[in-house]
Amino acid sequence: MRSDVPAKSQQLSMDLANTDTFALRRRGGEFSLLLELDCPADNQPFAAATAIAVGMARMLHGTSITALALTDRRRQQHTHDPIEVAAVLAAAAQQPPLLHIAGKSVSRKQIRELLARARSIGIRSVLALTGDRAHSHVEGRAGQQRGDNPGYLDALTILELCRDRADIDAGAAVNCFKYNPADLYLQMFKMVRKLHTGAQFLLTPVGWDMKKFQELQWYLQMRELGVPVIARVALLSPSDIDTLHLGYQPGAAVSRGFMAMLQRESQINAQQSLSAQLQRLGLQVAGCRLLGYSGVQLVGIHDERTLEMVLGQVDSAMARYQSYADWVAAWNEFHNFLDFAPVPNAYYIYKNLLDPAQQHYDSDCCICNDRSLPLVGNHDKLRYYSNQLLAAHKTTAAIAAKWQQLRYRQCRAQQCGCQTYTFGLCPAPCPKKLMYGPCGGAAVDGICEFGAQTCFFHRVLAVAVWRQQLDALETGL
Ligand code: SF4
Repeated sequence: MRSDVPAKSQQLSMDLANTDTFALRRRGGEFSLLLELDCPADNQPFAAATAIAVGMARMLHGTSITALALTDRRRQQHTHDPIEVAAVLAAAAQQPPLLHIAGKSVSRKQIRELLARARSIGIRSVLALTGDRAHSHVEGRAGQQRGDNPGYLDALTILELCRDRADIDAGAAVNCFKYNPADLYLQMFKMVRKLHTGAQFLLTPVGWDMKKFQELQWYLQMRELGVPVIARVALLSPSDIDTLHLGYQPGAAVSRGFMAMLQRESQINAQQSLSAQLQRLGLQVAGCRLLGYSGVQLVGIHDERTLEMVLGQVDSAMARYQSYADWVAAWNEFHNFLDFAPVPNAYYIYKNLLDPAQQHYDSDCCICNDRSLPLVGNHDKLRYYSNQLLAAHKTTAAIAAKWQQLRYRQCRAQQCGCQTYTFGLCPAPCPKKLMYGPCGGAAVDGICEFGAQTCFFHRVLAVAVWRQQLDALETGL
C-alpha cells in the first residue's frame, strides 16, 4: 500500500473520537444505513483517487446514511493507505468510517499498527475479515504455497488482536448464503466462535435470497444470540449484470432464474434496468429491517447522482413497508415468486421461511429441515487416533521431542499446534492454511474458493460429527 499524501492522521484525530454514529446507533438498537466505499487503487494520485468518495462523504449530512464503510483491498491488492483514505473521508463526513480489515498478506504486527493508527483518527468500529484470495497467491503441489507467499490471518486472529484494545469495537463476517448443510453449519459454528472471541456485530455478504437473510436471523434467535447484524445489499451496474455468471464475489451465489431476470430487465433499456435495480434495493433494505437486521450496508454506488436516487428509493421503501406480510407480498410479486436458490434441492435450516405469517423465530412454528453432515473417511479416523496418541505421550522431554517430530512429519504444513485445532487433520490442503474454521469463499457445491477440491473444513466437520464434538467448532478444541 503506497501513499503520496503527507501523513496527516494525527491532525485528524481531532474531534472525531466520539462521533462514531454507527457505534452509537448500534448500541442504542437503532437501524443504521451504511454506504460502502472501496479503498482506491494507488495507480492514481491520492487526491484524484479519492475525489469522488470525498464528494459522496460530504453529501451524507442530513441524509439517512449513518456512516461510511471502507473496504480493504476488496477489488485490488495495491491501494492507497486505508488510514489516510479513512482520514479524508472522516473529515468530509464529520464522522469516522467502519474500517474493514482483511487478513491477507499482513502480519499480526501490521494489524496492531493499523489498529493504533485507526484509533488515532477516531475510528472505533472495525470489521475483521480473513479476506478473499490474495492477488499474489501462487498455489503449488500438494497444497503448498510457492513464490511470493502472502499468508492469511484468520478473522479470529484479528478479533483477538482487537480484543486487546478496549477502545476498538470489532465485528466479523458470516456467510449465510450457503446451500449445503456442511458449508452452512460450518459458517454458523464459526460465527458463534467469532462471537465468543469478541465480535460485537456481524456483517453478511451481498445476496438476494431473502430466505437466507431470514434464516440467519431465525438461527440467531433460536440460539438466543442477540447480536446486531448488518446486511450487505448491492446495486448492480450493467457490467455487474453482464459478468454475474462469472461470480459476483467469492462465495456469492446467484440463481440462473435471477440472472435471467436481470438480463431481461437490462435488455429493455438502461433506464428500465436501473429502475428495477433501485426498486429491488429499496425492497431489500425495507425487508432486512423487518427481518430484524440492525442495519444495511449499501454496495455498488459509485457517484453522487446514483447515491441520491438510492437514498430516495430506500427512504420511500422504508416508509412504505411497515408490515412484514405486506413486504413479503411485495417482494414475491416483484419477482413473480422466483426461486433464488442457485442449486436444486438447496438446503435451508427451516421449512417455512418467508411465510407471511411468521416474521420472527418461534420454536413452536419454525420447523427445521433434516440435515445430513459429511461422513468421516478411514484415513481421517487414523489421523485423529494417531494425533491423540502422539499428544498423550509426553513423559520426558526427550520422548516429547520425539513425538513432536512425528507430529510434524504427519503435518505437511509444519505448523506447530495446527492439528490441535482441526482434530488431528493437517490444514495444508486449505490454500489459506486456516485452522479455526472456513473462510466464506467456498462455492455453492462446497468446492474451495481456489477451485481444486472440496473445502478442507468438510473433513474437519466430518471428524467432529463422528466424535460428537460439534460444539468444539464453536468453542475451540
Ligand atoms: S479450503 Fe475452505 S477455508 Fe480454505 S480457502 Fe478453501 S474454501 Fe476457504
